[in-house]
This record gives sequence, structure tokens and C-alpha cells, in this order.
Amino acid sequence: MMNIYGMNGGSFSRKLGKVKLLQNENWTNERFMGGGARKINLRFLALKTFLARFSEAEVAHTALEMDDKKKKKDVKVKSDLQDYLNQYKPPDQRILITENITFNELDQIPVYCDVTEKLEDLVIPERLAFDYVDCSFVNKELEPDLVKAIKMSEKESNQIICDCAVHDLLCYENVNCPCFKTNKAMREHFSEKNSKQSAFHSLNPILISSPFNIAYENCGFACSDECACEGKCDNNSLLIPHRYLFPLEIYRNDIDMGFLVRSPVFIPAGTPVMEYTGEIVDYERLRKLDKFDFEEHKSYILKCTYEDDAVFREFLKTLNFTKDYEKLLLKLYTNKNFYIDPTNFGNVGRMAAHSCCPNLEVLRVYRKSLSPAHVSLIMVTIEDVYPGTPFSFDYGPEYAEKLKDYCKCGTFACRNNQKTDEFKNMDSHNLSLVIEKIHKLRHQAYKKEVLRK
Ligand SMILES: [Zn+2]
Ligand SMILES: [Zn+2]
Ligand SMILES: [Zn+2]
Repeated sequence: MMNIYGMNGGSFSRKLGKVKLLQNENWTNERFMGGGARKINLRFLALKTFLARFSEAEVAHTALEMDDKKKKKDVKVKSDLQDYLNQYKPPDQRILITENITFNELDQIPVYCDVTEKLEDLVIPERLAFDYVDCSFVNKELEPDLVKAIKMSEKESNQIICDCAVHDLLCYENVNCPCFKTNKAMREHFSEKNSKQSAFHSLNPILISSPFNIAYENCGFACSDECACEGKCDNNSLLIPHRYLFPLEIYRNDIDMGFLVRSPVFIPAGTPVMEYTGEIVDYERLRKLDKFDFEEHKSYILKCTYEDDAVFREFLKTLNFTKDYEKLLLKLYTNKNFYIDPTNFGNVGRMAAHSCCPNLEVLRVYRKSLSPAHVSLIMVTIEDVYPGTPFSFDYGPEYAEKLKDYCKCGTFACRNNQKTDEFKNMDSHNLSLVIEKIHKLRHQAYKKEVLRK
């Protein structure tokens, strides 16, 4: 069998000579796995990156150069894709479980159930039984090191905040803004050398520019409410999610799928749509739970720091923090993994579905300082998301095995779809061409069905 990257054949390497990212066979994310033996295959995310990075003309040109056998396959692919263009239209009668799951007037998210007709039949699943929190937090009793870090970070020299607004200045690209300086330095420090860095600006798109270690390398720093600008500047990639710019709806239209989240408006690629909030926990603490609880937590937690993170430790040493704070931070980034755990306390982020071909990627943004207690996870669109499309992200390596048997994402590349071996075994490059076509078809349908009307 051809390897899934398809780049072992001489012809592709030749044609894609300048596309360095496709030549590398190591499309895996070791660091994401904390250096373990298992590796995550990032091909889908990489493909989206590929599409975001190169002009349509370049992609089309490459498509033209494909051999005849592939072309025939493409024709068949096209007709199958029609199935994925139709968006879900809810029934006229819907059961409204709650008008607002957030309890925040500015952030109204209703929850609908469209799978039961009679109210008596309605079962509220446990998935909805969590306390809603707008921001991530630390349990004071259970995470003493994080509490210590927060306390120490309040000292002036350990804080990264700015007073640009006092001088009527905006923060982004302001070389005197400590927040922007950290933002820039972080991106440069964590990204592969010579790679284009994604901008972590308040309104400009966050376009992922490297397929390697996406969640790790694309990491930013934002202004906060402690700054004179109160984060209302152009250096705050949490601005959009915290202003609840996009209306969201939670709904269930398939008894097997559970609840999903979608927006009735168009959201362009590179937009941080929502935060993924929860309790910031040390993984070791979760491992001490009994098996059943551990499994439950495991199905929601997302990594926010990386075990034995030498790159992060290097970075910390450049920041002139006090010695005791630096020492504590070095400890927290050595042999430790912190996760955001929304099992008991979380937000709408935990309702986003898994997909083998997702439309969101989860990235890290720090504010105020750099301990694991200062991290936020933002969910950024990696493709244009058309109105009504459910949000999804790849739940990641811990699920890869399970997904083979249980995934119901229904995307053409689903790891559990027996009928789509063709796509499952397709190499990354060809898959990217298919995704490109889906986008074009969706865009045409959107223009015809929505914009022209
Ligand atoms: Zn500033
Ligand atoms: Zn600032
Ligand atoms: Zn600012």
C-alpha cells in the first residue's frame, strides 16, 4: 500500500518541489503526544493549512498535473460530495430545552431537541448536566502550585500588562507594548524556523501556516482586562469570543450524535469563534480518579500544556521574571501536563462535535502572565463555515482507536465509514484537492441559495 502521504512517489515530490510541507513524511505530532510512542496523524489539519496557505490558482495548477487515473477518480468523488452540501433544517415544531444555557444575557445560547416529538419522551442527557462557566479557573484546594503561581504573577515584574491606551496608542505592532512584544516573541519562539507565523490579532484571521504541531506552535499572547486598554485593542485574539460576536445554537437532530453547536451566520476561516473553558487540572490528579470517572473526564479534557516542555522553559528564561516565580514556572513545565477539563464546569465549547474532517482547531492564548493558570483555549475556524454547519474539531490521538469503531461524524473521510475506503486511504494531497472541491461547491450553493435570493 502506498503510504498515506503519497509523497514516496518521485512524481509528486518533483511537482511539489517548492511545497516543502508535503515532502516531509513525518506528518505527525510527537510533541502533542508528550513524546510518547503513539503519534497523531495531522493530515486533515495539514490539508486545511495547505489550502489556506496557497492560492487557488496554485492548487488548481497542481490538480491539472495529476495523472489520468486520478482524474477519473475525481469525477466519481464529485457526485458523492453533493450529499455533504445540504445543511440541516430543523422541524417547524422544536422542543426548547432552555432559552439560554449560559445565564449570561449578552451571550444567549438556546438549546433545542429535534429528535423527540412529545415532551414526555424528552430525556435530558448527562451531557447537558454541567455548570456553565465563561472562563477557565483553578481549584484553590486541589492545585496549590497553580494558586501559588497566580499569587506570584501579581507582582509587577511577573505581570505582562500594558498602558498603551493611556497614551492613546493601539497595542498590535506597537514595539513598546509588552503584551504585543510577548505575543510576537512567543510566535517566533514556538514556530519552526523560517515558517510564516500566524497572526494573533483581535480581528485579522488566525491562519495556521505550518502543519507541524499545530496546537503547540500556534500560540499567542493577548491584552487583558488588567491592561489600560482592557483588552479592547487590536492585540486580543480573545476579543471576538469574549464579545460573543457570533450567535450560537445548541441542538440535537440525531439520537446517535448527541448535541451539536452551530451558528446561523457565515463565519470566515481564521476566526476564533468560542473559548473552550473548564477547570485547569494536572493530569496526574485525574489519573487518581476511579476508572469510570477517569474515562468520563477523559472524553472532554483538552491539553493546554505539554510535558517536559524545554522550548517553553527556554522562552520563560528570556522574560526577566523574579527568580522564585521563574523557578516555579520551570517546575510546572517539567514532567507535567495540564488540561482544561469541562466535565463539571464548562461552556459551549464542550458541545462541539468530533469530526475526522473538522472545521475548528483549538489554539492556546496566554494573558497577564505565563503559568498554566494563565492559558485560554480558543476554537478557531480552519475553513469558511457556512450558516447552519455544526462546529467540530478532531478530538485527537486519545480517540483515534475508538473512532475506528464509533465515529459518526459522517464526513467523507470518516475513519469509521466502511463505504469510503477510497477516501480513508487517499493520500493527503489528493484529499486536499477533494476538500478544495467541497469548498467550491459549498460556496456556489451558498451564492445560489442565499446570496442571490
Ligand atoms: Zn498595549
Ligand atoms: Zn496589554
Ligand atoms: Zn492592548
